[in-house]
Amino acid sequence: MINNVKEIPIEGITYKNLKIEKEPLTPEYTPPPPELIPAKNRAVCIDPSRTCMPFGAMWATLGVHRAIPFVQGAQGCTTYVRYTFSRVFREPATIANASFHEDAAVFGGRKNLIRGVRNLVCRYQPELISIVTTCSSEVIGDDINSFLDEAIELMEEEMGPEVRDAVKFVVVNTPSFAGSHVEGYNRAAREFLKTLAKSTGQSTEDIYFIPGFMMPGDIRELKHMMDLMDVSYRILFDISDTLDCPLVGMPNRIPYYPPGGTKVEEFVRAGDARGLFALSPDAGGAGATWLERRFKVPSRAITMPIGVKNTDNLIKAVAEVAERPISEKIRWERGILLDAMADTLHYTMSKRVALCGDPDFVAAATGFVCELGMIPTYILIGTKSRTAEATIREVCEEYGHNPVIMNDSDQFEWEYALKNDIPDVILGHSRCVNISREIQVPLVRYGFPVYDRVGFQREPIIGYRGGERLLARIVNAILDYHYPDDRTHQ
Ligand code: SF4
Repeated sequence: MINNVKEIPIEGITYKNLKIEKEPLTPEYTPPPPELIPAKNRAVCIDPSRTCMPFGAMWATLGVHRAIPFVQGAQGCTTYVRYTFSRVFREPATIANASFHEDAAVFGGRKNLIRGVRNLVCRYQPELISIVTTCSSEVIGDDINSFLDEAIELMEEEMGPEVRDAVKFVVVNTPSFAGSHVEGYNRAAREFLKTLAKSTGQSTEDIYFIPGFMMPGDIRELKHMMDLMDVSYRILFDISDTLDCPLVGMPNRIPYYPPGGTKVEEFVRAGDARGLFALSPDAGGAGATWLERRFKVPSRAITMPIGVKNTDNLIKAVAEVAERPISEKIRWERGILLDAMADTLHYTMSKRVALCGDPDFVAAATGFVCELGMIPTYILIGTKSRTAEATIREVCEEYGHNPVIMNDSDQFEWEYALKNDIPDVILGHSRCVNISREIQVPLVRYGFPVYDRVGFQREPIIGYRGGERLLARIVNAILDYHYPDDRTHQ
């Protein structure tokens, strides 16, 4: 018996007996020593609000048409990732793995990469393979580029030059000890452009976007806004039609690829773009910086368009680069959001809100809650950010707030602060459920990952229409928790 939990009988546990009552190890709750509460004082991260670096590179690859990530590492590095994709999007994700075992850990992953790439090309005929490294392959010191050269050479010998030319390769180095999924996406954005983009010297009308960890619904909202602006645009890493596909009968051919995703040619033409916007500075900003430096394409990273001001900034910037007027329909949508905010200001005004999540989501959402008259109290940025803290400080100064910002901290520290100074609302992801229940404060889910609700991946929170939805989520949560039933209509 461990911790007084009954041993599992040989015949297994019946459904009736599934609930096991656990008893605490000590009769009383022992609070942690105060000096160990700030994450910076600890050698360990407790309850991180992030996931590992290859995940971001795999996410980006799955937004490319007929592309498969090949993960140079152990199977576990892809198993939980596929599980996360299934939980968040409720769609299958095709991800290949080099299947490292003890021999690869000792002798390196050369053999695994060469054989793995060959099998992938033979069986799946992808148009692009991203080689995504992991902690183990980076620590061993795998020379990925030379392994890949050898794999391509052998592939040409065996299958001919046409097959070799039909597949593009992009190497993304993602040792997880050097950053989180946010940096993984950021590196993928840079490496895809670095490897594929070309310039003919003839500028096109196309405006490019790197969305970051936006959900399919958000990407569709972005397309809707650009259509209203009558702008010619391309979205890189477009997961809207690869990780959210219609069910139109079972795929009757293997390999099966969803119809959507950014085409390889669109990456190639990025060097001639009229402009590029990274809509998540921490997840994609490196791609914008590289494209501007290499091809002089005007590129900038702007705060994710959540809320009025952030969306205004995007619309104005696009109108300026595309030299298009701002359409009346866009102004109308903006007006509807303002109306919704005015209608509900008495519910949101002066409500204290704690935020948690990826830097790009948190920075943008802080601006929105300030616009709603709310007071941000404790803000956890789950991944160390170069820009989010400054963005948050700037917007909070404008509204006269002074929240505690925990940049690159963990949920242990954030939750401790919340227990001692309980907010009215929490804005966070599905991993904030426990603290929300413990302190009995409503949780408004947004950002990544949201896996305990259905349909959230299709509901936009960006743009003016997305703002309406996020506002409705916030207000409805406040109504549920803070108002008696007979007062909710007032
Ligand atoms: S942290 Fe490293 S070893 Fe663990 S799953 Fe991620 S890449 Fe693999």
